[in-house]
Amino acid sequence: MTSAPILSPSETDLPEVYQSVESEVRSYCRGWPTVMDHAQGSHITDVDGRQYLDFFAGAGALNYGHNNPVLKSALIDYLTNDRIVHSLDIATAAKTDFLTTFEELILKPRGLDYKVQFPGPTGANAVEAALKLARKVTGRESIINFTNAFHGMTLGALSVTGNSMKRAGAGIPLVHATPMPYDNYFDGVTEDFHWFERVLDDSGGGLNRPAAVIVETVQGEGGVNVARVEWLQALAALCRTRDILLIVDDVQMGCGRTGPFFSFEVAGIKPDIVTLSKSISGYGLPMALTLFRSELDVWAPGEHNGTFRGHNPAFVTATKALETYWRTDEFNKETMSKGEFVRTRLDSIAGSHEGVSARGRGMVQALKFEDAPAANAVCGVAFERGLLAETSGPSDEVVKLLPPLTTSNADLDAGLDILAEAVAATLA
Ligand SMILES: *Cc1c(COP(=O)(O)O)cnc(C)c1O
Repeated sequence: MTSAPILSPSETDLPEVYQSVESEVRSYCRGWPTVMDHAQGSHITDVDGRQYLDFFAGAGALNYGHNNPVLKSALIDYLTNDRIVHSLDIATAAKTDFLTTFEELILKPRGLDYKVQFPGPTGANAVEAALKLARKVTGRESIINFTNAFHGMTLGALSVTGNSMKRAGAGIPLVHATPMPYDNYFDGVTEDFHWFERVLDDSGGGLNRPAAVIVETVQGEGGVNVARVEWLQALAALCRTRDILLIVDDVQMGCGRTGPFFSFEVAGIKPDIVTLSKSISGYGLPMALTLFRSELDVWAPGEHNGTFRGHNPAFVTATKALETYWRTDEFNKETMSKGEFVRTRLDSIAGSHEGVSARGRGMVQALKFEDAPAANAVCGVAFERGLLAETSGPSDEVVKLLPPLTTSNADLDAGLDILAEAVAATLA
C-alpha cells in the first residue's frame, strides 16, 4: 500500500475530476493549475478570463503560435469541403501537396537527398523508426546516445534517453545503447569528445561497433545544453570515417526553433537520418517525419506500419506553414534577431544575480540556477504573474524559454519583464 499522493495546495484549484479520474501520470497541469480555454498567437486565456503569455509553446509544437490565422483558414477550408481526414497511407491530394512542397522548399534548396517516411504521429514514433532503420541497414544493434539526451518515452526511444526517473518507468532492461558525454559535460576541463573516439578505436575499449549515433544539437529536455558547432562537425566526421550512421533528433529544435529550418544547418553537416515532429504540422496537430539518405531506404513495403501515419489536416497546415514561412530566409533572420534580443535580456538578469547563467541558441534560451529548486520557484511566480515557462535539466535547474517564433517584440519584452521580476522575487 502506498499512501495517497500529497497534492501541492495549488493543484487542488483544478476541478476535482482531474484528481478523481485522470491518472497520477498527468504532469503539466500540476505546475499550471488552471483550466485553459482560448489561445491566439502567444497568448492563452483560462476559463476565468485570466491571460497568460505562453513561453512554452507546447514544448516547441507551436513555433508559429496558437491558432495561427493563415494555417487555420487553410484547415477550415479543407474540413468545410469534406476533404479526406483519415487515410492510413493511401495517396491523397493533401499528401501530394505536402511532399511536393517539402521537397521544393526544404530538401532541394539545402541539397538534402532525403526520402520521407511517415511514422506514427509523435516524436517517439519518428525516433523508433530511425533506430529500427539504422539497425536494419547496418546489421548492428548498438546505438550511441549522449548524457542528458531526451528522445521520447517508448522503449527504443527511452533506451537512448538519459533521465533516470523516466528510464525506470520502462520496467524492463533498456539495452543496446551506450551513453557518451555530450559537449561540455566536463565543463571544458576534459576534451570530452575524445572519450568516444578513444573507445571506438581501442580494441580493448569494450564498445561494440554501433549502428548509429543519435544526438540533439541543443538538448531541450536535458537542460538547454548547446553543442558547439565544432563538436557537431567533429561528431559527423567521426561517424563518417568509422562507418556509423548519424541520426539528428530535430523533434524539438527543428522547424526553425534555432533559426534555420534544421538545427544542424549551423554546422554545415548532413546527418544520415533526421527526425522531425512537434512543429512540423505548424498547428499543433500530431505529425512526424523520419528522413534519411535515399541509399538507406531498405524498408520493405509495410515493414514499419501504423494507423495514424497520414493525418491529412496536419499535412494541410504543414504545407501552409512551409509556404508562409520558408519560401525565403526572412523568418530565419527574424528568429535569430529575436533570439539575440531574448539572450541580451537573459544575460542582464543573470548579471544581476549570483549563481544564475544564460544559455541557448536562436529562440531556445534559458536561465540555469546553481540552486536548482530556484528554477521551479521562478516558474511558479512567473505563472502567478501571467507567464508560462517550464523547467528542464536533470535536476529541473533550468528555466527554458520556447516562445512561439512569431511572438512580437513587445510580447517578448513583456514576458521577460515578468521573468525578471520572478527571478528577483525568488532570489530576494
Ligand atoms: C519531445 C521530443 C521527443 C518525443 O516526442 P513525443 O511527441 O513526445 O513522442 C523526442 N525527441 C526530442 C528531442 C523531443 O524534444
